[in-house]
Amino acid sequence: MLLAISQPTNITVKTNITATSTPRTTNFHKHRTTPFNSTLKSLCKWGNLDEALSLIESSKPTPIEEEEGISLFLHACISRRSLKHGRKLHLHLLRYQNRVLENPTLKSKLITLYSVCGRVDEARRVFRIGDENPPEPVWVALAIGYSRNGLSHEALLLYRDMLSRCVKPGNFAFSMALKASSDSGNALVGRAIHAQILKHDVGEADQVVNNALLGFYVEIGCFDEVLKVFEVMPERNMVSWNTLIAGFAGQDRVFETLGAFRVMQGEDMGFSWITLTTVLPVCAQVTALHSGKEIHGQIVKSRKNADVPLQNSLMDMYAKCGEIGYCEKVFDRMRRKDLTSWNTMLGGYSINGQINEALDLFDEMINSCIEPDGITFVALLSGCSHSGLASEGQRLFSVMQDYGVQPSLEHYACLVDILGRSGKLDEALTVAENIPMRPSGSIWGSLLNSCRLYGNVPLAEIVAERLFEIEPSNPGNYVMLSNIYANAGMWEDVKRVREMMAMTGIKKNAGCSWIQIKHKIHTFVAGGSSDLRCSDEYIKIWNELSNAIKDFGYITNTSVVLHDINEDMKATWVCEHSERLAAVSALIHTGAGMPIRITKNLRVCVDCHSWMKAVSEVTRRLIVLRDTNRFHHFEHGTCSCKDHW
Ligand SMILES: [Zn+2]
Ligand SMILES: [Zn+2]
Repeated sequence: MLLAISQPTNITVKTNITATSTPRTTNFHKHRTTPFNSTLKSLCKWGNLDEALSLIESSKPTPIEEEEGISLFLHACISRRSLKHGRKLHLHLLRYQNRVLENPTLKSKLITLYSVCGRVDEARRVFRIGDENPPEPVWVALAIGYSRNGLSHEALLLYRDMLSRCVKPGNFAFSMALKASSDSGNALVGRAIHAQILKHDVGEADQVVNNALLGFYVEIGCFDEVLKVFEVMPERNMVSWNTLIAGFAGQDRVFETLGAFRVMQGEDMGFSWITLTTVLPVCAQVTALHSGKEIHGQIVKSRKNADVPLQNSLMDMYAKCGEIGYCEKVFDRMRRKDLTSWNTMLGGYSINGQINEALDLFDEMINSCIEPDGITFVALLSGCSHSGLASEGQRLFSVMQDYGVQPSLEHYACLVDILGRSGKLDEALTVAENIPMRPSGSIWGSLLNSCRLYGNVPLAEIVAERLFEIEPSNPGNYVMLSNIYANAGMWEDVKRVREMMAMTGIKKNAGCSWIQIKHKIHTFVAGGSSDLRCSDEYIKIWNELSNAIKDFGYITNTSVVLHDINEDMKATWVCEHSERLAAVSALIHTGAGMPIRITKNLRVCVDCHSWMKAVSEVTRRLIVLRDTNRFHHFEHGTCSCKDHW
């Protein structure tokens, strides 16, 4: 399976609790300006921390001024992550037995400084100075420090200690504890904290707490709770919406993701780059080009420069919707590109069958001193295999290591596919048998597919046996083997494979296709949509199409049907394959000449492939069909894959 299609783009959106502690209690007189702290303020602002420290060390300000000054200085150290200056200040205070750290706000700041610099031990030491039972902000500062350094379990233990000392948790502590529960995947503790929040008698939970609750339930995959919290939240901000949308997207709930995004826009919430970077991969997943283009439009309208990850997602969406021209445009206009941008463009060319463009781009990439990685080579190698460029593929595989990339299982899988598809079945078998790591099912699967392409039954039987050991319950493998037998007219063996499937209770996955018409995504399941199939408009178009494609020379090929039924029934079954239902529906609902885009969850069968070619000719439509492996661009009666898939 091709990496570029099969791998969902990672979505990592998390609700972050504010990194630095801002306790609610503060003793400072905010608007007092004295020469001491105004000088200090400007030194801190411009990052002159050495001078700022000398000023603190050499001046004799009033206690209030001193507290204000130290607070400013610590704040600057935190934002610049300057451990050196923080330590110097800490030493200075210790040396003069300065009691300023008894101020909980300053103590929290110093704890935060040590923890953002990864010095948990030092943060803990500061925590233990003075008061044995400090106020809540100090506890929370250390707990956040633990969380920040991956010690979420310690954060929860500290929260427990705080409760056991009768320190009442506030919203700040709740948010921290929920985040720590999400990070440690501790559903039980998180739920207990939720209960505490509900029983809490100090007013309502604030937005940060509610967002942390959302984040917690998304993280543990409790979607009912996510919706409940979301619905009762008194106010929802960008973080709330992003958390909800990322939650849907993370669960592959395509319709809900797009739906939530639409509602968010309807409520004039706007969007952040994170929102769009989350929604675009979902559009890509179901080829929702219409929605993807709308998002692109919104980016343009916002007149802001999209960041690199967003532009990469945009490219990825266009590539996976088969719109490689748009993908190129985004790529060419990017002011700054990272390795993912280059890889996305390469992968886009590759899955859309434009291998020459991919190879040229690779040269350009090398000339621009961009170092390729493993993903670069997967894109190139799989592109070569789909375009039948066997020798180029072999050459690329052999030079990978010159670029510092070690071949992984995936690269070997591409090599086996390249050799197999070009008819070098024995060589492919030798490579598969000598891979330095344990071969995966996909390697033997691709070899089995090559046996199908070349009608090599004896080798197919050897390969299938290996495959059944690794993936005993993958129906696709049985279907492939029986197709090979069917093509060779070995009907007894077809029957045997079918019986094997029945005996082991393996069922063929139901074929499923999607199309987007305006804002709506329509799903079609093989043999389903009976209302549509019985409608007058469907029957009319179907009959017209059937007559026209017969004249074009299309003849039904029923060998793909594995069930023991008569020929007429088989022909009916093939006609009910999901991509055909989708195509006819698109013909009904879209204007003449409009391209038709279909996404399918399985590999397209031989008969549907011929049918699509014929339909593209008689209707004069471009049909772009994305199956599990690649794109088929059907136009004027031919397919971009040159019948080699
Ligand atoms: Zn089919
Ligand atoms: Zn094709």
